[in-house]
Amino acid sequence: MKRIYNIKVGCLALTLLLLLGAAACQAPGGEGESSTVGDPTLLESEQNSLETESESESQGEGESEAVTDSVTEQPSESETQTEPPTTEQTTAGQEVPDGEIVTPSAQGYTYPDMVDDLAALAQTYSECFSYQSIGKSVDGREIYACVVGNPNAEHKVLLTGGIHGKEYLSSLVAMKQMEYYLANRAEGSYSGLQYAELLDTHAFYVLPMINPDGVMLALCGIDSIQTPEVRETVEKIYADNLRDGLTSTNDINVYLAYNWKANANGVDLNRNFPLSNWAEVKTGILAPCFRNYKGPSAGSEPETKAVSAYVESLGKIDALLAYHTAGQVVYWDCGMTGGVRQQTLDLAKAVCEHTGYKLIYDKHLDASLNDWITLDRDVPSVTVELANVIYPMPTSELEAAFEQVKELWVITAQLFG
Ligand SMILES: [Zn+2]
Repeated sequence: MKRIYNIKVGCLALTLLLLLGAAACQAPGGEGESSTVGDPTLLESEQNSLETESESESQGEGESEAVTDSVTEQPSESETQTEPPTTEQTTAGQEVPDGEIVTPSAQGYTYPDMVDDLAALAQTYSECFSYQSIGKSVDGREIYACVVGNPNAEHKVLLTGGIHGKEYLSSLVAMKQMEYYLANRAEGSYSGLQYAELLDTHAFYVLPMINPDGVMLALCGIDSIQTPEVRETVEKIYADNLRDGLTSTNDINVYLAYNWKANANGVDLNRNFPLSNWAEVKTGILAPCFRNYKGPSAGSEPETKAVSAYVESLGKIDALLAYHTAGQVVYWDCGMTGGVRQQTLDLAKAVCEHTGYKLIYDKHLDASLNDWITLDRDVPSVTVELANVIYPMPTSELEAAFEQVKELWVITAQLFG
């Protein structure tokens, strides 16, 4: 859409201007800084952030059934010393083909970017796309659920992104994937399956940004918080993490950009799903934090409440693809048994074969969306860790990540259809 393209170019220009002064959405690093934000000698937590994302990163003790070599890619010395990229660097070289709705913006891919793109997709593809809010975040943002394809179809596939704040790229890829199938539905096909048939026989339920507050905190800093009490909460978590040695930077926006995965209460939503044996879940973090705190009770957070209620309303679902970053790996195995175990393994292997990602057993119970949907609801699910770079993740990762996963709707449909 030319109109959208122009808006985004305009936004980029505006942002560059705003970076010179006060900005509504500060780039990480805070007011007035544009290139030398942060502490390039990084902190313990930030070093962790440089490692391959692992949904079992809190695992520590216990049995390990990993069947592959360690997937942790140690960053090179030069990478660890690299300063956080500036807004200009993250957007350099991005091409925005005419007609494309979903594209990165100057900050990466923010909640307002997504809201604009959802409206544009609905306007352009009204016959095959719809979306609705399924609830609100802690800081009052909408949590959106989209339907691509035939809402009355027997086959339903769930796709999620943006459950972890700094992993905004997963939202962008999920959004871009919806546009890809919508834009190519008349002529496109893959592996012998016409997209028109795919979207006629399937409904793809896409929740592109489950944690909008977390995404905004990571991309736009503390000033993105709209509610004074919520801001106080996040500032206190930062102070506590600083006191406890989980971070050492004196810039809260650097801390947020490098680390923040939680919602605005400091609860890791992917540790908060109402798993039947939630009480047994041990994450190693006992208080609100940028990651891995499972919350005061199962399903305590408005975001997890909204998502779990929505998923329950859908009835039988063929499969869940949960997009995260990073590492180019696929996690499966949360200790399930019976038929769903084989179905999940088949899905995980198919995703790995298509993407070239590594298959990782992850038996650790962590009350993730995947654990809940597979263990309590018998839905095969995999965690797909996109891209393989340090945080804050540049938008230049988008194209490669998208190319690797874009046909996964077909791959999944052919397994379960
Ligand atoms: Zn994640």
